[in-house]
Amino acid sequence: MPRPISATIDLAALRHNLALVRQRAPRSRVLAVIKANAYGHGLLRAARAMREADGFALLELDDAVRLREAGYEQRIMLLEGFFSTRDLPGFIEHKLGAVIHSRDQIRMLKDLPAGSDLDVLLKLNTGMNRLGFASADFPDAIADLQSNPAVAQITLMTHFANADDARGVAWQMTEFERATRGLALPRSLANSAAILRYPQTHFDWVRPGIMLYGCSPFPDEIGAELGLRPAMTLASELIALQNLRRGDTVGYGGMFTAERDMKIGVVACGYADGYPRHAPNGTPVAVDGRLTATVGRVSMDMLCVDLSGVPDAGVGSRVVLWGEGNPVENVAGAAATVGYELLCALAPRVPVVESNG
Ligand SMILES: *Cc1c(COP(=O)(O)O)cnc(C)c1O
Repeated sequence: MPRPISATIDLAALRHNLALVRQRAPRSRVLAVIKANAYGHGLLRAARAMREADGFALLELDDAVRLREAGYEQRIMLLEGFFSTRDLPGFIEHKLGAVIHSRDQIRMLKDLPAGSDLDVLLKLNTGMNRLGFASADFPDAIADLQSNPAVAQITLMTHFANADDARGVAWQMTEFERATRGLALPRSLANSAAILRYPQTHFDWVRPGIMLYGCSPFPDEIGAELGLRPAMTLASELIALQNLRRGDTVGYGGMFTAERDMKIGVVACGYADGYPRHAPNGTPVAVDGRLTATVGRVSMDMLCVDLSGVPDAGVGSRVVLWGEGNPVENVAGAAATVGYELLCALAPRVPVVESNG
């Protein structure tokens, strides 16, 4: 018997979530964001489930080439573009598109042969202050690209810093509209939060990431409340039980002390599987379909759970760390992080199983 942990990826959920994006942004084309190994779901697996997407966005050139070689013919865009002129032949050969966010990149394009047919997402910095041109430099960047015969199409883009919180998108929209007024070029602005909350941001291309995987981008709502279906379930089993006496402690550092006699279970899942080590006592876990809580510090290969409310649980009982019956948003909330981080931290040692609804 292998170690009982596995992650199940529900391909039907991925299809459902993509359909929900289309329903929410009916006039936009969809650039499905599959960076970070499709947020932990598997690059080629996610692409296969979402092959109806109008395009894919990711970060690594070799992953993009792998996608192209697997037969995907739609737009494939690299969200940090190229890093050196050495990358450019790969972009041209495989018809990959690049986010252009700096003068350095524009300089690198000068030596490309005419007709290279490069597809560009030109990024404006509207306040995120990570990647992108300042508004004052944007007209020159556009002019340079429009006069470069190696560049085929230009889509204007920006990225929101607060689409998921109270500050919202208006302040960045104002800046974007000011800097792009009168330009007859397609636009791409919306991430998942903006797709769900701000229809005025949809424009020509939306860029959903987290919602495709069924996880909410908002801190105060779970995916199911938005009509999404979680695609990943990380599950394992109890491999041992312990009967604690009042005053006993659990695990490294004795971070949990039993206030009364109680039974706990030991789960074959630890931080080397991608479970967050900083998850405190009380992080939700489902055992045999019943919600209970972690006790003690998460170790590399194991963690412990309170079985007080699950008296019939025993060795072999199914434990859902996140997913079905235990939303990843709630686990992330307890562990002071976001579902994004948990999903994409799924460790390579965890076997993946596919399901279809
Ligand atoms: C990751 C990313 C997205 C997707 O964001 P979600 O919040 O996961 O929907 C969209 N655009 C860019 C530029 C990104 O880097």
